[in-house]
Amino acid sequence: MKDLLITIDGPAGAGKTTVSKILAVRLGYRYIDTGALYRGVAFEVISSGLNPDDDQGIEKLCSSMDIKLVPGENGMRLLSNHSDITDKIRTPEITMLASAVSAKPVVRKYLLIFQRNIGKGKRVVFEGRDMGTVVFPDADIKFYLDASLKTRALRRYREIASKTVQTLEDVGKDIRHRDKNDSTRVLAPLKPAKDAVIIDSTDLSVEAVVDHMKLYVEKVILI
Ligand code: C5P
Repeated sequence: MKDLLITIDGPAGAGKTTVSKILAVRLGYRYIDTGALYRGVAFEVISSGLNPDDDQGIEKLCSSMDIKLVPGENGMRLLSNHSDITDKIRTPEITMLASAVSAKPVVRKYLLIFQRNIGKGKRVVFEGRDMGTVVFPDADIKFYLDASLKTRALRRYREIASKTVQTLEDVGKDIRHRDKNDSTRVLAPLKPAKDAVIIDSTDLSVEAVVDHMKLYVEKVILI
């Protein structure tokens, strides 16, 4: 059986995380949430009291950062300087700052090397925004998962409703803002790779999306 490197890109709330995790389990592959890495950088920017516009300061921070993704009971845990920050990077503040710092060349350069090192052994599902376009242009299979803005906002709201004071409208606004940041930035903008399989999950269940992907993967494995 061929060992594959699979990428799943797409906008916030399209269902990438849920689908990637299940697909990885079904294939016996590792799953890497690259958004968590950008969130980790944003977390360290705030923790160190840096101004998000201080590019030199962020460059220095990246060169001294020690981040690791390690398997935990409920999926991968993100460690930064040996401290587990997995549960601290999901706040609305970190979410928006991750989107802002991800446009910085120094941050993208740092994480590009980090991500490519993880991908060396293949048998990985990478989830992100630029996995198939920039980080792994030669990936064996590239998916681009999309859904309507309304559906994505609703999904994200349901996911975080018990942990946030944000309304559905706030969540929709944040997603729209991030969509704009992520798709209009100069470096590694969010867009489907030319050879990506595009899936619109607006009217599809998680199971239906995973089944569709798994079938596609099986065909490639057999070729
Ligand atoms: O996927 P998640 O919502 O956790 O990503 C947080 C932010 O990190 C995104 O809004 C995006 O700006 C950035 N990101 C990126 N490239 C990736 C993954 C995430 O720019 N490969």
